[in-house]
Amino acid sequence: MRRLVIVSNRVADPLLVGSSGGLAVCILDALRRRGGMWFGWNGEIVLNESEISTTSIKHDSCTLVTMPLTERDYHEYYLGFSNEVLWPVHHYRLDLARFTLEAAEGYRRVNTRFADKLSPLLNRSDLIWVHDYHLIPLGAGLRARGVGNEIGFFFHIPFPPPEVLSATPEHDWLMRSLLEYDLVGFQTISDHANFCRFMCDFMGGKMTAPDTLCVDGKYLRASVFPVGIDVESFVAMAQSPLADKRIQRTRLQAEPGLSIIGVDRLDYSKGLPEKFRAFRRLLEMYPDGSKPASLIQIAPPTREDLESYIEIRHDLEALSGEINGQFGDFDWTPVRYIHRAFDRDTLAALYRASRIGLVTPLRDGMNLVAKEYVAAQDEVDPGVLILSRFAGAAEDLQEALIINPYDVEEVAHAMRRAIEMTQQERVERHQALMDRIHQNTACNWMLSFLQALRSCREQHVADVDARNVQRRNTSQRRRSLVSFPELSSPSNSMGKLITGTKFGGESTSLS
Ligand code: ADP
Repeated sequence: MRRLVIVSNRVADPLLVGSSGGLAVCILDALRRRGGMWFGWNGEIVLNESEISTTSIKHDSCTLVTMPLTERDYHEYYLGFSNEVLWPVHHYRLDLARFTLEAAEGYRRVNTRFADKLSPLLNRSDLIWVHDYHLIPLGAGLRARGVGNEIGFFFHIPFPPPEVLSATPEHDWLMRSLLEYDLVGFQTISDHANFCRFMCDFMGGKMTAPDTLCVDGKYLRASVFPVGIDVESFVAMAQSPLADKRIQRTRLQAEPGLSIIGVDRLDYSKGLPEKFRAFRRLLEMYPDGSKPASLIQIAPPTREDLESYIEIRHDLEALSGEINGQFGDFDWTPVRYIHRAFDRDTLAALYRASRIGLVTPLRDGMNLVAKEYVAAQDEVDPGVLILSRFAGAAEDLQEALIINPYDVEEVAHAMRRAIEMTQQERVERHQALMDRIHQNTACNWMLSFLQALRSCREQHVADVDARNVQRRNTSQRRRSLVSFPELSSPSNSMGKLITGTKFGGESTSLS
């Protein structure tokens, strides 16, 4: 089996990932089974570039190769370009993007360093898979160093419409660098469509098959691979005796009414203030004194060095204070807002104990919390998932209550509907959702991407052959029309047929 090389900004620590499930575990499993290497940043920061060297640690048959970033890299490449340009732009938030030359330079510098450090470690037969927006130009960097292997790239975040993306000063260079990959993967059909539109309308490319683009004579496969969760391990976690105890405890301590759970990193893309406002609107809908539901919002900190993240924290603290002040009682705190991470067993138990899973991002690549909430439910008495139509997961999880997170009134009504929903309807919706999350699990995602990457070049040769056969047939048919001019249509003059058709002009080069 060919060795797998995974490259991502951060490398997961196998000891911390444990048996929690999810993508990191799936990747580690695959690396252990087939032998492989995971390359990336170790999360450490050093002062000078001279202190940067790679460290290699072996875990079974998987090798983790990591290196630190300098403080300057951290500010320019990680916070600056990755998280103050690409993250907001790809989440349709041009208003939050901060373009600076230093950040763009830092991004190029770190990607170049990744290519420098990684290329000598590669074997000719390695299958290379680069992950996410921090490393878009890495494939081009590897090609420039003579790496001829199949290289795939996956966007875990949304891909915005070309009109939004083209506001990034570096968009042309960045998108052109993607042409050096064999395969680029997306979470959803609409991300894929936006990308293809960019390549065709802004870069003069054309689609030669539903998942193949030709731009500047280079062929690229672009397909949809929706990320999933490890359903079995999440179901097991939610049903474990430990989870049962936690659920009992949560219910004993429960506030009046039902529980609504939200679990999101504290990120402006997650629509948290809008969620709180919708919850306030729900409380207003009920007559004085009734306590229809409590909201537990778990929002662990993330990227706290950035201004926009500090602001959202203040907004949420103010909003939860206002709601609790207005509606709370001696025996009731309507919003419990918890600003820290929990282990996944606790999350699974909380999901199971909550009647509503409220997932309201303004834009999200996929949103795994939505899938985890479904997996954790009791199939006899399940809760209801309320899901933003702007989460990638909504393309698939159609039996959720799909809402527009900007519309506070609509979200409040969906909560009310979920509170009043019959058990039978909840069971039917849940069964349908379970079927869907079983179809796209974390491991299926990984296997289907790798399968597509392996077959990219064979598929490309087959496509070119098929096109050549088609052209030869068209050419023969046209030649016979030339011999029998009375059969040609009035608009097809012989002159056009002979001079306007060029055969075999397309390159079969794989570069
Ligand atoms: P994103 O990747 O943007 O953070 P996702 O919903 O796709 O959003 O994935 C988030 C992952 O992080 C989920 O697997 C979820 O269980 C986990 N997670 C989110 N919040 C917490 C938390 N407070 N504690 C532990 N894990 C969390």
